Amino acid sequence: MRIFHPLSLEEAVAIREHEKDSCYLSGGTAVLSLSGGVEASAVVDISALVDSSISRDGKHIAIGGGATLEAIASGPVPAFIREAARYCASLQLRSQATIGGNIALRRFDSFLIPSLYAASAVLTVVTDDGRKDIAIEEYVRDRGSISIIERVTIEEAEGESRRIGRASHSHAAIIAARSGSRYCYEASGSGVAFGDRDSWKDIDFRDDLTGSAEYKRYIASVIFEEAR
Ligand SMILES: Cc1cc2nc3c(=O)[nH]c(=O)nc-3n(C[C@H](O)[C@H](O)[C@H](O)COP(=O)(O)OP(=O)(O)OC[C@H]3O[C@@H](n4cnc5c(N)ncnc54)[C@H](O)[C@@H]3O)c2cc1C
Repeated sequence: MRIFHPLSLEEAVAIREHEKDSCYLSGGTAVLSLSGGVEASAVVDISALVDSSISRDGKHIAIGGGATLEAIASGPVPAFIREAARYCASLQLRSQATIGGNIALRRFDSFLIPSLYAASAVLTVVTDDGRKDIAIEEYVRDRGSISIIERVTIEEAEGESRRIGRASHSHAAIIAARSGSRYCYEASGSGVAFGDRDSWKDIDFRDDLTGSAEYKRYIASVIFEEAR
């Protein structure tokens, strides 16, 4: 495997444009894991370039793309987002895993994506054409994007995050979150749905080791039952 050490985020994006079979290296918990699901012949190390701070100005919260889940779990962010960061049950993993990497992996059991969607998170991304702000769902849907998540911006908000799995350290069957009328549902091995309370109906539920399609469909249908 080849490793590149760019001097800026713009240079990092430019390298990835030319290195088609490459990925970024941030916390490295997926890229350097034997079972991380990221396969690449070259990595572009952005770990020293992406801001890892979390700052708050009134209700306005800015989370650097390099902030770890452990920093978020105890940071000045809404309580339901702190709780979602703790879904990563291992302290070692939490202390290394970053919010940028977590979103970029677009996993159907992502720790943070449902809560960040519920919080109307806006991502500042570095593209081959400069910086821009986009809604988190736009980034998640564009699976081919090589943009770098530089910052995640949210406002203080009420909300809830829920996770259903056999144990805190086993794979989640369902992770869901809501804030106001914004809901997001993830079903292991199946998909992610954004929208209103019934948006779980958009998921094509599948059987996997976390449970049957029918089980997951049922959990999703009642997980926010009291919100009716
Ligand atoms: C045992 C184990 C269990 C895990 N379980 C879960 C789980 O249940 N749910 C879950 O969500 N994750 C899980 N993960 C994956 C991972 O730990 C987290 O998703 C983590 O937040 C990834 O962040 P990272 O900084 O380590 O990413 P890295 O490993 O550095 O990178 C992962 C991917 O994200 C991209 N990337 C990294 N940073 C950025 C950025 N700033 N902008 C754009 N792209 C970027 C890279 O190109 C790469 O493709 C697990 C990992 C392990 C080892």
